[in-house]
Amino acid sequence: MRQVFGNATILAGEELECLRGYVVVEDGRIAEVGEGSPGRSYVNLKRGVVCPSFTNAHTHIGDACAPDAGAYLHLRERVGSKGLKFRLLEDRERVRQGMRRALEEMRRTGTGCFADFREGGIEGLELLRQVVEQSSVSCVALGRPDGDPPERVIERADGFGVSSVSNYTREELRRMRRLAERLGKLFAVHCSELRDDTAEVLKLEPDFVVHMTSASPESLEEVCRRRLPVVLCPRANGSFAAGLPEAGRLLECTTVALGTDNVMANSLNMMREMEFVFKLARGQSRDEKLRAELVLRAATINGRKILGRDSNAIQEGNVADFVIFRNKYIYEPALSIVHRMEAEDIRGFVIGNRYVRRV
Ligand SMILES: [Zn+2]
Repeated sequence: MRQVFGNATILAGEELECLRGYVVVEDGRIAEVGEGSPGRSYVNLKRGVVCPSFTNAHTHIGDACAPDAGAYLHLRERVGSKGLKFRLLEDRERVRQGMRRALEEMRRTGTGCFADFREGGIEGLELLRQVVEQSSVSCVALGRPDGDPPERVIERADGFGVSSVSNYTREELRRMRRLAERLGKLFAVHCSELRDDTAEVLKLEPDFVVHMTSASPESLEEVCRRRLPVVLCPRANGSFAAGLPEAGRLLECTTVALGTDNVMANSLNMMREMEFVFKLARGQSRDEKLRAELVLRAATINGRKILGRDSNAIQEGNVADFVIFRNKYIYEPALSIVHRMEAEDIRGFVIGNRYVRRV
């Protein structure tokens, strides 16, 4: 199975370098990226922009059934372990329908892969798997025990996604860490969301952390020094009135990916997330040289890197998972995706061997 996409603007490789040319996809992988014309027979993209699909590196799609429920409650009352969210999650059928809509929204807005911090132990993970199986979006499922034995939870998951170190004893956390390590699976933690718990989290040597909104300058520098990967979700943090992360500093010092967090509090649209992060980071750093490619990389290639998935950077040998945007803004294609394009500007996508064209 071989498909050639020509007359394209390509954001190629890890650097998202802008090329005018073509992409050849063979057996679900990128076989060739070239400049100029690919020859006679090809899908004419009419100078559309080929960009790796987004990876949403932090979601809780279980609460997609209740967007904006409890909007003005404190974060703990809303999504904390005894909060409104967990009363809503008891209706399994409603949760399933919400998850389906969440996956549709992700695909519609250019997301090809996401990492869900799934609640509800084994049952929660099984529900997620059933819904994901019927979708073209791939999922990294990070579970939590929620009353089930951690050994059985991690069997069904790609790793653990710890809600907060304060919800577990030190021994429970160490046990989860060891299990993940032994099975070569991920161990990720919500870190310094409402208070600075970075020191406790770092002792567990997580694969990545999420948030860093309440981290002290010293904690932030320690994360930078270790080059610990961080997932930022600043729109959700703002929506929860829970502060904002030092996006400019983190983008510069470590591998950053982006996530949209609870669907109750935020939409799953990674284009909106990128625009927010780009302007937040430039505003904070006062650095007019801070480029859109840095944010676009965080929303695309870095997510898969942090999650241990094959890269979808547009280069030979990588998986073919990309989005094609309309040819609308000519000066700065990467910047235009970060802060101008809308979901309606997606004219198609390629997922492995499948080319889906939108009319
Ligand atoms: Zn979260």
